[in-house]
Amino acid sequence: ATTLRLILGDQLNPVHSWFSQTSDDVVYVMMEIRQETDYVLHHAQKIIAIFAAMRDLATQLQAAGHRLHYLTIDDADNTQSLTANLDWLQAHYQCSQFEYQEPDEFKLDAQLAAYSDASEINCRMCSSEHFFTRRDEAAILFEGRKKWLMENFYRHMRVKHQVLLEEANKPVGGQWNYDHDNRKVWPGIPWEPADFRPRHDHSALWATIQQAGINSFGDANASNFAWPLNRAEALAQLDAFIQHALPHFGEFQDAMSSKSWRLFHSLISFALNVNMLHPQEVVSKVEAALWSGHAALPAVEGYIRQILGWREYVRGIYWAQMPGYDEHNFFAHEAELPSWFWTGKTKMRCLSSAISQSLEHAHAHHIQRLMVIGNFALLAGLQPQQVHRWYLGIYIDAFEWVELPNTLGMSQFADGGMLATKPYVSAAAYIDKMSDYCKGCHYDKKQRTGESACPYNALYWDFFARNEDKLSSNPRIGMVYPQLRKMDKEVLQGLRDRATDIRASLDDL
Ligand code: FAD
Repeated sequence: ATTLRLILGDQLNPVHSWFSQTSDDVVYVMMEIRQETDYVLHHAQKIIAIFAAMRDLATQLQAAGHRLHYLTIDDADNTQSLTANLDWLQAHYQCSQFEYQEPDEFKLDAQLAAYSDASEINCRMCSSEHFFTRRDEAAILFEGRKKWLMENFYRHMRVKHQVLLEEANKPVGGQWNYDHDNRKVWPGIPWEPADFRPRHDHSALWATIQQAGINSFGDANASNFAWPLNRAEALAQLDAFIQHALPHFGEFQDAMSSKSWRLFHSLISFALNVNMLHPQEVVSKVEAALWSGHAALPAVEGYIRQILGWREYVRGIYWAQMPGYDEHNFFAHEAELPSWFWTGKTKMRCLSSAISQSLEHAHAHHIQRLMVIGNFALLAGLQPQQVHRWYLGIYIDAFEWVELPNTLGMSQFADGGMLATKPYVSAAAYIDKMSDYCKGCHYDKKQRTGESACPYNALYWDFFARNEDKLSSNPRIGMVYPQLRKMDKEVLQGLRDRATDIRASLDDL
């Protein structure tokens, strides 16, 4: 009796318990299919990185003695449909059992559940053995609460997994959170560490992808490719990050610079999200850097909170809120994405830098995603589903379970504040404080009205003015509404007129 086991393109974990022994009764299947490449327009590097890593894992598993059927995108037998491929593979290998690891995406989960229900053979969903939490853990923790505070979830996780704790479950150093130490501007020193990722030439794979007619955008960069191919490379990248960048991660976590696109970030989100690395091993290694004295507590705690806290928390929100979470549009925003989202060609230097870098590297760090691009999208009233699809396509680490709560919830406040306690928006002053973007910009960060005024300024006040009924009772918003009420009527009207002009001609900015 043969079992068919499906390995999805983001389940590239060679140390999953499935692979602890070989068996002639098990056939693994991996497939490159249009269903997965085409659900949104993807960055070229994302398609290449996933296919290349899938192929690498297949080779490793075959070399270890596993039976594995790999369907390349151009294989004549490939129907390009997940379920149609499964049907003929089951018949071909005369399978009596079908197994798959729990998918991270709602749609795929539903598709495989329906397929299993309709199947005549035994079907079983196994754990992906990837996360700290079960899918429903956050929902159980927050049951009956209106607000799902990440900080509560994070403290629960610290205690449950005994991370950065002293006796009696007290946080090391006496505080749970060192954010206030982690908001420095980067003065150019210390130097950004070298990009320690190995290069690969994927020109042949890229040619195959193009021949298959898959549409994409962004820089393919196939001959100088730096995303990890496998777990060994991902582990080396993690170690290099801990060695060279972690000690500065905390203090410059929110800094932005036109001179450095990576700063002290780890760039491991891709490896984590395709299961090459386990979040537990990342947290343990980073925690060890504190105990050995290599990195200070604010850096270590700041980093661990992202993985033990945010990453698991947004996954919990995703599974608790799907289906339907992707449809929220709290502010009823309907504007189309400006054309420069696809080219980076705007006179606003911050957006031009952050978007151009995203097109070049398929990556931007958190504050660029939140406080430059997302901030603009929210202030300008871009349609949140379009914004979501753009983020889902462009970033190397974008998988719906993590991208959607971050984009629709945290960044666009489209869920009405279930995830974020307030909208993450700012005028030019915040961007100027945290970056060098405003120097040399076409627009003037200090001016609020007039053709050369930074668009963020008028958009900021107009956003709060037009959404007063939805936001004025939010205690986290602080001084905005008292300031708005004190503002001279003509001044406010001037700001609102400028915002109306900007919103009517977003393409021209
Ligand atoms: P580092 O800054 O080095 O952080 C370490 C790790 O912490 C990351 O690799 C990631 O796994 C985790 N992490 C940090 N912040 C978050 C967060 N808010 N949610 C979940 N995990 C987090 N992250 C994704 O993995 N995929 C996405 O599609 C994604 N979309 C985002 C969209 C928006 C609008 C925003 C504001 C953030 C998004 N993030 C997403 C979170 C974050 O920006 C990226 O995880 C991070 O930039 C990845 O780069 P890094 O590995 O260098 O991260």
